[in-house]
Amino acid sequence: MLPGGVVPGEVHFGHTLDAVTPIAEAPQDVLILPGFVDTHVHGGGGDTMDGPDGVRTLARLHARHGTTTLLPTTITNPWEKVLAALAGVREVMDAGGIAGGADVAGAHLEGPFISPGRLGAQPPNTVPPTPDRVAEVLGAGVVRAVTLAPEVPGAEEAALSFARAGVRVGVGHTRADAGTVTALLEAVHAAGGQTCATHLFNAMGGIEGRDPGPPGALLADPHAYQEVILDLIHVHPTSFRLAHAAAPGRVLLVTDAMRAAGLGDGPSELGGQPVTVRGGKATLADGTIAGSVLTLDVALRNAVQSGIPLPEASRMLSAAPAASVGLTDRGRLEPGLRADLTVLDRDLNVLQVYVAGQPVLEEQP
Ligand SMILES: [Zn+2]
Repeated sequence: MLPGGVVPGEVHFGHTLDAVTPIAEAPQDVLILPGFVDTHVHGGGGDTMDGPDGVRTLARLHARHGTTTLLPTTITNPWEKVLAALAGVREVMDAGGIAGGADVAGAHLEGPFISPGRLGAQPPNTVPPTPDRVAEVLGAGVVRAVTLAPEVPGAEEAALSFARAGVRVGVGHTRADAGTVTALLEAVHAAGGQTCATHLFNAMGGIEGRDPGPPGALLADPHAYQEVILDLIHVHPTSFRLAHAAAPGRVLLVTDAMRAAGLGDGPSELGGQPVTVRGGKATLADGTIAGSVLTLDVALRNAVQSGIPLPEASRMLSAAPAASVGLTDRGRLEPGLRADLTVLDRDLNVLQVYVAGQPVLEEQP
């Protein structure tokens, strides 16, 4: 899979890609895509809030589904727990790669700088992003993406601090009006930062003609990336196609997966709250949709089934998310980049995954 489309050929690699060679007569029984990059994933088997072992467990689980890079994502919890989770991500990164797991390229801090009025499934431990708190989380040295609500006190100053530190600024879990969202996006862009919708359409209200709301402001912005949870439960396929039409090349698919991802139906947990998973849908006791049990191989199939051509779907899983968080050494099949590869059959089932050239699954017989 090259940027222009599916091309028959060969890929030669060690830790990095040595050569990507089109060969007209090469066999075409498998598809080689750039490895998937998930910028919003709380868990899978384990959870980011568990500490280093939870991070390693989720990195291994998602690697088996084609994800080669991820940002373990914190949830709104008491402040000390959030800091402890960031320290856990730091410990994993300092120890080097995870055998059999996706590369941990930083953390996504989702909350606690969000609106107490748009928690979604986040616990009610929101706090405003004071300069001291922003300095404290940046001090952990791992935050690569943040989600905040533009209307909370101090949000714009905090957003600029994050942007100057190279952190992608996500807008989400918000009740802001469209003007407030646009003002924040433009301030971050003026400072040279990247912006993103945090799970577009979820926990931010809808679009009306006279009241475009956060999704209208985000989709109308010419630079913002757009996270979409494409499990076809959080977002309707038509809403997804709307995002693609409004922001071509800037839609990125995320899982927002929780601990229960990859484990089937049954009881689970999110941010200390009991969750029930039934038929692939995770809900809190009051029926609120919780995080997903999605994996990115399923998101790819859902994108294609929604009518997106495979090359564009692949971009949503690799090039766009990598670019959104400033990872320039991956996301495309180009010599010199990391050998992060997801190998699929023609029905888009994962056959093998390589993280920096190392196979994740036992070799096929
Ligand atoms: Zn989330």
